[in-house]
Amino acid sequence: MLKPQDRIFTNLFGDSPSNLKASQSRGDWHGVKEIIQKGADWIIEEVKASGLRGRGGGGFSTGMKWSFMPKKSEKPHYFLINADESEPGTCKDRDILRNEPHKLLEGIAYASFAIGANTAYIYVRGEYFREAEVLQAAINEAYSAGFFGKNSEKTIGWSLDVYLHRGAGAYICGEESALMESLEGKKGFPRLKPPFPAQSGLYGCPTTINNVESIAVVPTILRRGANWFAGIGRPNNTGTKIFCISGHVNKPCNIEEEMGIPLRELIEKHAGGVRGGWDNLKAIIPGGSSVPLLPKSICDDVLMDFDSLRNVQSGLGTAAVIVMDQSTDIIKAIARLSKFYMHESCGQCSPCREGTGWMWRMMERLVKGQAEISDIDLLQNVSKQIEGHTICLFGDAAAWPVQGLIRHFRPEIEARIKQAIAHG
Ligand code: SF4
Repeated sequence: MLKPQDRIFTNLFGDSPSNLKASQSRGDWHGVKEIIQKGADWIIEEVKASGLRGRGGGGFSTGMKWSFMPKKSEKPHYFLINADESEPGTCKDRDILRNEPHKLLEGIAYASFAIGANTAYIYVRGEYFREAEVLQAAINEAYSAGFFGKNSEKTIGWSLDVYLHRGAGAYICGEESALMESLEGKKGFPRLKPPFPAQSGLYGCPTTINNVESIAVVPTILRRGANWFAGIGRPNNTGTKIFCISGHVNKPCNIEEEMGIPLRELIEKHAGGVRGGWDNLKAIIPGGSSVPLLPKSICDDVLMDFDSLRNVQSGLGTAAVIVMDQSTDIIKAIARLSKFYMHESCGQCSPCREGTGWMWRMMERLVKGQAEISDIDLLQNVSKQIEGHTICLFGDAAAWPVQGLIRHFRPEIEARIKQAIAHG
């Protein structure tokens, strides 16, 4: 359980204003020039040593990612923030944007300096209209204070311009290469990799892209030290994490907790417990809509971190915990996600374009039991034809919820088919 003094996002609930003055009173922007004077290598090593892993879903070491940027390059370097938060169930970055925007902006200053970027873009989900307003106001304040813009070299020791760009509503633009395409003014089509962004990213230049939460925790890590952050959570799964708890709980919420907290404790302590009590639990999606669901038997004692959830064939993803009690039609719930993925496929590659529609149509039949028992294996096969055979990870994201359903609720699917047959 996270100690109150270890909480990074002290204004996550918006109890006090998000403006610069209030943010500075909470410690933001404190000693920024002194930290930058310690050098880019020091910052990268400190972030590596903290064990910080990407909070957008990938879980890759943030410091390591920064170190992939070329040390010398003729081309400009760019730093991008992925604020295109669109994963169903996920709303953690939203609270950072509207209540703690200066933590993100200060983190951008360190990250941009560490990778040698003088320009940073924040790509924010178009539907986050109010959040974008708050963020733009915070950027304007940072310019007025000289943290950004022509005086920033003098004020913080690094020349930096930061721009806000609003997306137009496509889920796929949260995929990093699609985000870059979109930022360049093109359709949000994911790119083939390699080359990776550190070699050829925005406008073909070396680029690093990070999630909002990953960067918003960096200032506190640099001020309090890598060892402090690494001491929270579990080995290889360090630090604090914002969990978004929704669905059949008594008190849905966003909460910052220690990485590795037991799932049951997280829900009972912060979300008022499962509706009707823990025994009324049916299943939980632990990391946003794209990770496989977990039945109650696993939820009983699983820990909420990257490695523990991978060990039970699911994932921490964005740490969006979607709780479903016994009243849930679990087949229908997953069918709804299949529809979402079919709708959001960019259509570039056939397994995803055709397969997501195929899966959705089969799922709709399974909801009514209008299928053969053998169709369950066929559906599994279709999902396997998509997984790992596409340009971007979207194909996997569409396949995993279906695979999780078959893995854990096959008897329920079979029972529905048999019942439909029995009723003619
Ligand atoms: Fe587009 Fe889907 Fe292919 Fe990704 S996997 S590039 S979303 S068609």
